[in-house]
Amino acid sequence: MDRIVGFLGRRNLIKSMGIAGVSYAASVACTPSTTTKAAVPAAATNCPSTEIPAGIAKRPAAKDLTPDDALKLVMDGNQRFVDGKTFHPRSGRETVIQTGADQFPFAAFLGCADSRVPIETVFDQGIGDCFVCRVAGNIASPETVGSLEFGTLVLGSKLILVMGHRSCGAVVAAMGRLDEPSVDLKDLGMIPSLVPYLTPAVKEIEEKVKREGIAKVPNDLEATIKANAKIQAAALAKSSILSKLVATGKLKILPAYYDITSGKVTLLT
Ligand SMILES: [Zn+2]
Repeated sequence: MDRIVGFLGRRNLIKSMGIAGVSYAASVACTPSTTTKAAVPAAATNCPSTEIPAGIAKRPAAKDLTPDDALKLVMDGNQRFVDGKTFHPRSGRETVIQTGADQFPFAAFLGCADSRVPIETVFDQGIGDCFVCRVAGNIASPETVGSLEFGTLVLGSKLILVMGHRSCGAVVAAMGRLDEPSVDLKDLGMIPSLVPYLTPAVKEIEEKVKREGIAKVPNDLEATIKANAKIQAAALAKSSILSKLVATGKLKILPAYYDITSGKVTLLT
């Protein structure tokens, strides 16, 4: 039961971890534009440039990209986000009209439902670019596996990033770290259904701590979050559809870690 309580007392956790004063510098961004060459008032932005570079304004078609191309596009976008130089490409009314008939996302994501991890924002991508599954703990459940099979096999995404994030409350809950519930514990609804997916990572790091000592694993929460991203990526790779796409070079599945205090995404390879 105590593994579930964590979902319900997240504010206490954040307070105790001393991260309430998260920096929002990374979220300061350029004014969105609906055109490829739209002028942007410099004073209203954090951008050195007044127009969206052509290579960012218009991305190649997903069918023309390799998995490595797709990875470069999203990681370049995250670097812009970290640097406060985002362009919010393909995010206006013009793109809504262009994508209304069909979608060809080039990258897919399995991310956490946490409100601080908005995929298109942290990768500086737009409408129609990203096929996103977000669920607490970024778990590979039958529903998310099926969704990502659709996003790759049918829609053509060339990359799946499985993205854990710093201070993930779902992982905290699965570790049984919290014991100050703020709601009636008699009604947990479907919340317990998430925990079994997270247990393998919790056990892996618990055993590592037992084996090597806490000095070798000084931050077992973050170690568990990273282990979970790798475990969920490996679970996706067991899908017959996804494994075939990987084997034929049409897809890469990679675990990643997002730091909610810096905005930076790091690949866990
Ligand atoms: Zn989370």
